[in-house]
Amino acid sequence: MYYVSTRDKSLRCTASEAIQQGLAADGGLMTPEVLPKLSHNALDTMREMSYQQRAVYVMGSFLEEFTASELSSFASKAYGGGKFDAKQVVPVRQVDGETYCLELWHGPTCAFKDMALQMLPHLLTASLVKNQEDKTVCILVATSGDTGKAALEGFRDVDRTRILVFYPKDGVSAIQQLQMCTQEGGNVGVCSVVGNFDDAQTGVKRIFSDEALREQLAGRGYFLSSANSINWGRVLPQIVYYVSAYCDLLRDGHIQKGDKINVCVPTGNFGNILAAYYAGEMGVPFGKLICASNSNNVLTDFLKTGVYDRNRTFYNTMSPSMDILISSNLERLLFALSGHDDALVRGYMAQLNQTGRYEVEEPIRRQLEKRFAAGFCDDAETQKVIGKMWQEHHYLIDTHTAVAFDVLEQYRRETGDRTPAVVASTASPFKFCDNVLGALGVTRTAEGTAVLDQLSGLTGVPVPAPLAGLKDKPVRFRQSVEREHMVDQVLEMLR
Ligand SMILES: *Cc1c(COP(=O)(O)O)cnc(C)c1O
Repeated sequence: MYYVSTRDKSLRCTASEAIQQGLAADGGLMTPEVLPKLSHNALDTMREMSYQQRAVYVMGSFLEEFTASELSSFASKAYGGGKFDAKQVVPVRQVDGETYCLELWHGPTCAFKDMALQMLPHLLTASLVKNQEDKTVCILVATSGDTGKAALEGFRDVDRTRILVFYPKDGVSAIQQLQMCTQEGGNVGVCSVVGNFDDAQTGVKRIFSDEALREQLAGRGYFLSSANSINWGRVLPQIVYYVSAYCDLLRDGHIQKGDKINVCVPTGNFGNILAAYYAGEMGVPFGKLICASNSNNVLTDFLKTGVYDRNRTFYNTMSPSMDILISSNLERLLFALSGHDDALVRGYMAQLNQTGRYEVEEPIRRQLEKRFAAGFCDDAETQKVIGKMWQEHHYLIDTHTAVAFDVLEQYRRETGDRTPAVVASTASPFKFCDNVLGALGVTRTAEGTAVLDQLSGLTGVPVPAPLAGLKDKPVRFRQSVEREHMVDQVLEMLR
């Protein structure tokens, strides 16, 4: 099976090449040429499997160059060995008669990014071997919080890799900053950038396109790659948990074979909900995919009208991982819905680049309407939902997950569609203690890591071990640079 660029189908490569490169040479996203279908009894077959076995089953059909025993070994390293604090890895929790919550945050950094970033390093290093690449890969990450820590934890002390994370100096939560700056491992680096997330991201993009730097690093035995969700190696492991959720509901008798379920996903870069779309295309009976946004509601408008327009106010919200106006992975959906029309996608992306706006053609708009629903929710409403969920169900959720619950409720009110629905829960509430405490009526929050105990004390919910351990860890990284000097950090690390 081959992968092609969304902007030029003649750029074709194998899975291992796609994972190694991260991005296609023309700036497009590498995407499967043909999406594999699940066989008619696959969901039955997977019912009694462990999460790790399901991962091998689902990922295998996309990765012909990898043997089942290779993939089994990756899956047990990524999701086994006590790395996740739930035996099922991704438990499905029933909230009420027709609502389920897929808890994606039981991994080492307490956010759903672990699901992909625990797997990616294994896929990537095996790809280097398959492609006889003898240089060491250096992963550069610009993060608004969750990706940086998850990537550091995934790549730490992985052979033949280095990782350097840049985060905006004043743009991440106190807990997130502490998580990154106390990172262990001999191959890791962390540095803050004066400015906001866009400054960090622009700086990283500039480093990637610096030809002279590329040559200089090659001379030292290094090449640069990305762990952002444009890399196919991040989307693929996410398909698994949607298939797995359906299998769990079948196994536990909540649904019967063939029953449809809806899925609601708190969305930023469109990676997570895209994985749900692919799972549906493979044959999992999904009804509507409900895209939930915060006040940065560019996707809500797009899915309702077919017009994508990023020319609007940017808001810093309580769900910062969804504060984004350019959702990169939407490009893969446009490629799919247009019947792989690369010229059309290339045109839309050029317009987005030049004017910040494009409008899709009628046939694509109709398909969007058929498969997707969308809505958004502001900060005040987000906190209300957290409070209500705690009072009515004794269930503590984070700000991102709260956005999804609110949008699901709006959808049900507007349409009357009461199909059972799974909400993707993307972070532990303990990553966003201040706003969660605020939602529970606390006006004065503790300083530093004491806020973890404050939330735990109030609710009786234990602090996840990786966060509880933060207070004893020494801070290893304190560097801060101006955007112009990010490249010096790269050269310093790869001396
Ligand atoms: C990254 C992230 C999201 C957004 O996911 P996308 O794949 O970018 O749409 C939502 N919630 C949390 C907690 C995240 O870390």
